[in-house]
Amino acid sequence: MRSPVRRLSMLRPILRYGDAPLHRPAEPLGDITPEIQTLIDDMIQTMYAAPGIGLAAPQVGVPLRLFVVDLSLGHQSRDLIVLVNPRFVEREGMQLEEEGCLSLPGFNATVARPQRVLVAGRDRDGREQVVEGTGLLARAFQHEMDHLDGRLFVDRVRGVKRQAIVRKVRKLARAGRW
Ligand SMILES: [Zn+2]
Repeated sequence: MRSPVRRLSMLRPILRYGDAPLHRPAEPLGDITPEIQTLIDDMIQTMYAAPGIGLAAPQVGVPLRLFVVDLSLGHQSRDLIVLVNPRFVEREGMQLEEEGCLSLPGFNATVARPQRVLVAGRDRDGREQVVEGTGLLARAFQHEMDHLDGRLFVDRVRGVKRQAIVRKVRKLARAGRW
């Protein structure tokens, strides 16, 4: 006889700039199966452990259109947002702030992002939802959406700043430290 064992969520390794799944567009999700529920739980725990305020499925090597965001880092359960097959309904304004990424640890740059967005998508139970984000939340939504399109923040940085980051990453990679 087996006793019911609740599976504990697992931390998944976070891919880094240069790993192929980060640089390809992700595919839309079909049914939210038990495997997808497990993936979502793992992504949430991986985001909190990092710690980070957002994580997209391609960052853990799964090429599906799904991301999680929590500006409270797990301190306020109502701040946790799971978006499946998200799409922008509205985007307006512009903000310029420093930004980083769990897939580019140790680097940041100023990135232009919308000031306010409306994102539609499904939640983890498959229900349609529309979420509004302003300021940092709008930035997080746009950052994670970029991951689903195979783009990292550094891809939105131009000129010498971008070249400097890419060059340092290559140097670290050559030295086996990336
Ligand atoms: Zn990121």
